[in-house]
Amino acid sequence: MPEYQSLYRKYRSQTFGDLVGQDAASRALQGAIVSSRVAHAYLFSGSRGTGKTSAARLLAKAINCTGRLRDSAEPCNRCQSCLEMTAGSALDLIEIDAASNRGIDEIRDLREKVNLAPALGPFKVYIIDEAHMLTEPAFNALLKTLEEPPAHVVFILCTTDAQKIPLTVIGRCQQFVFRRHSEEQIVSRLTHIAREEKVQVDPEAMALIARTAQGSMRDAVGLLDQLVPLATGPISLDGARSLLGIADPRLLDSLLDHVLAGQAAEALAELNRVYAAGAELRQVVRGMMEGCRDRLVAALSRHDNVTARRLSGVLDALLHLDGEVRRHAEPRFLVEATLARLAVEAETGTAIDQVAPTLTPRATPAPSAPRATPAPSAPRSAPAPSAPPPPSREEQAAPVAGWSEVLEKLNRTVRAAYLDAQPEVDGATLVLWFRYGFHHKKAQEQSAQLMPHVREWLGDGVKVDYRLRENESAKPAARPASPEDDPFVREIVRRFDGRVTRVKEVSE
Ligand SMILES: [Zn+2]
Repeated sequence: MPEYQSLYRKYRSQTFGDLVGQDAASRALQGAIVSSRVAHAYLFSGSRGTGKTSAARLLAKAINCTGRLRDSAEPCNRCQSCLEMTAGSALDLIEIDAASNRGIDEIRDLREKVNLAPALGPFKVYIIDEAHMLTEPAFNALLKTLEEPPAHVVFILCTTDAQKIPLTVIGRCQQFVFRRHSEEQIVSRLTHIAREEKVQVDPEAMALIARTAQGSMRDAVGLLDQLVPLATGPISLDGARSLLGIADPRLLDSLLDHVLAGQAAEALAELNRVYAAGAELRQVVRGMMEGCRDRLVAALSRHDNVTARRLSGVLDALLHLDGEVRRHAEPRFLVEATLARLAVEAETGTAIDQVAPTLTPRATPAPSAPRATPAPSAPRSAPAPSAPPPPSREEQAAPVAGWSEVLEKLNRTVRAAYLDAQPEVDGATLVLWFRYGFHHKKAQEQSAQLMPHVREWLGDGVKVDYRLRENESAKPAARPASPEDDPFVREIVRRFDGRVTRVKEVSE
């Protein structure tokens, strides 16, 4: 029986034509090989699983291949050097894992060994994996070699974190950035592998694997590798989901709905269903993060900053939970506790992170209005008569939980009149601040439609005060021309490494 070989190793790119998705790097490297202008040092940076090490091995193989055609960079994969390189036994290819202790020792010896001539081919190639993990002395030793490299040596530093590589080292390297693979590229590669392996995988299941791998070809092929031996027949979407421990996104969506609506008991029951269906908790948290992020982008696109701030608070909590779940031995209770807390906070309107000042509705408790129950922590935000003057409008722009639910109950036309409103609960009065005179006027005309929902939220005694922000009403250009220009949107896009894909104009 031959030793089991993982699909990733089996299908590792053996030619530049096989190297998926890194066209720019691939073209540049091939050009250098064909014109014999290979540099002495390269830095391949990029996220994990994007093909850095595969490209490095390919480069090593190509420059030592004796069967290569004159005007092609492709290794022949048949000569002695190529065969040894593929098998991992080539003496002229030295791979150093900088993350291991041995790696440090190897760098230390490097200065002596580097001058020895290659065993077989014209070049001795050093691939330093996880190069950012090198210690300072190791970097110094490497730098000395890079300053006067022997003609027969090529260094390829691979890293997921180029910022940790000293500039002195980067300055000696030709740098290539390896981009994450697109879902299409991953699906196309997986389809090829599945065909070669004679396994049937539904296109939806392929797409799910590609999405789960988040741009890492290695992860995607690894997931397929887990599925193939477990599958008894064709791999379906549901089969892939349960084998990979991925929850049905519809269940996750409803779980998120319950959390945001403040329904803790329903949320926990839904979580139990998801868990019982075999979903892995890390994937559950990730799935909820994705759902939350989609809603956040939608809220930002319609300039609903109140909802957006609330969602970003929930997203923050989920991000934190994602980190914790990896470390915990019993993550289930952690997930339950966090979701329950978020739901309770959504219901009572307390701040998610307990840092941002929150305006808690302080309406008189009305038995007929279950949502009007004041939060236990209400005194925190209830200003005493001798309280200092309230902060400026901008600082007060904290979420008022419940307002977005009121908006959701209105019909489209009525809602449009209120989208511009910044709510503020001031005693038994709901103050609605408007930036535009047009909305300010329109909203008051629709007051009869709004009031029942406000009463349900804040109690029967509530009054609504419609106010226009004078200084800002004078400059209608205050709203950013496009959502991308909004500083809050920019921050979200930066933090989640995303982009605004769709802008929906809801008002006007
Ligand atoms: Zn060859």
